[in-house]
Amino acid sequence: MLSVFCSPSRYVQGRDATRNLGVEIDALGLGKRACLIASNHAIKHLELTWEETLTEANISYALTEFSGECSREEIDRIKDIAAEYKAELIIGAGGGKVLDTTRAVASELNLPVVNCPTVASSDAPCSALSVVYGEDGEFDSYMFYKRNPDLVLVDTSVIAKAPVRYLVAGMGDALATMFEAKTVIAAGKKNQLGGATTISARILAEACYQILIADSIEAIESVNNRAVTPALERIVEANTLLSGLGFESGGLAIAHSVHNGLTTLHETHDFLHGEKVAFGLLVQLVAEGKGLDVISPILEYSSEVGLPLTLSDIGVNDLDRERLRKVAERSVKEGETAHNEPFEVTAAVIFDAILTADSLGRRFRESEVVEAAISKA
Ligand SMILES: [Zn+2]
Repeated sequence: MLSVFCSPSRYVQGRDATRNLGVEIDALGLGKRACLIASNHAIKHLELTWEETLTEANISYALTEFSGECSREEIDRIKDIAAEYKAELIIGAGGGKVLDTTRAVASELNLPVVNCPTVASSDAPCSALSVVYGEDGEFDSYMFYKRNPDLVLVDTSVIAKAPVRYLVAGMGDALATMFEAKTVIAAGKKNQLGGATTISARILAEACYQILIADSIEAIESVNNRAVTPALERIVEANTLLSGLGFESGGLAIAHSVHNGLTTLHETHDFLHGEKVAFGLLVQLVAEGKGLDVISPILEYSSEVGLPLTLSDIGVNDLDRERLRKVAERSVKEGETAHNEPFEVTAAVIFDAILTADSLGRRFRESEVVEAAISKA
């Protein structure tokens, strides 16, 4: 098996980075006519800056507001706009769904693509794949593209103004990265590119974890003040770039499969990808037979930053065994990354690990309540 590593061609991050959008597109020679897809929120905050930076770089553009859903219809609608405008590149600005749509349009038209995430809620912006959900909000499949984005531009002054919950969800997605990559390496399985993992991917995944442990609280307080700080910059890089390179070139395991399984329960649909992945990581660690020396620090971290520890934290209050069995079955469907574990993963393995992870989370919560009561007394 060949080792494979991929990444965006260029990654740019920092305070007011949007002001450099035109210069960066120009430096990479991505084209002079852009189709720009943006969320309503991004348009409100960035429209004037786009006009300045793109005009300065002699890039003309057609701005289109995103409909809200990354659906087949929306991809086709934007493809038509881009074709009619004779766009030479596609720019997307907004949350995960906007960027997923942008990458799909660019891939189908075989045009360069620029991703400008306005939240740091997942590691998708750097990747050459999108998560596709059905109309009912259930995980459907991964959509793979030929290339990673040509440019990912992250404006941390925009991220700092987004609700803190998005940043924390991004930490959940990033938290799983090192554990999943390590599992794939230990099992000698394939990464998301169908190749073996490189040393580079492993080291980036490890750096991702270390930054989360060191900087998460400071980054949360930055965003609570709508402030940009070095700690926030490091967390945004961990959530977006390190986790992005780490998951795609490192590989995924049970944590992401359990996320996919959980989407079969409608009550989890209001919870973000990274929030479900964080619980999925607990399930993975239990299924792998890890001891409390590994699991307790994760429970402590998640509790401190506000990530889910239990099923009820992601909206699942009814622990009906039949419904949970469906989650477990969906998690081990053919092609799921749960099969990247070094042992056979059946629905029973996942089912038992879900129940145990949930209990460990609840026990941890109770111990926190008792500790708080003791320190009060
Ligand atoms: Zn993810």
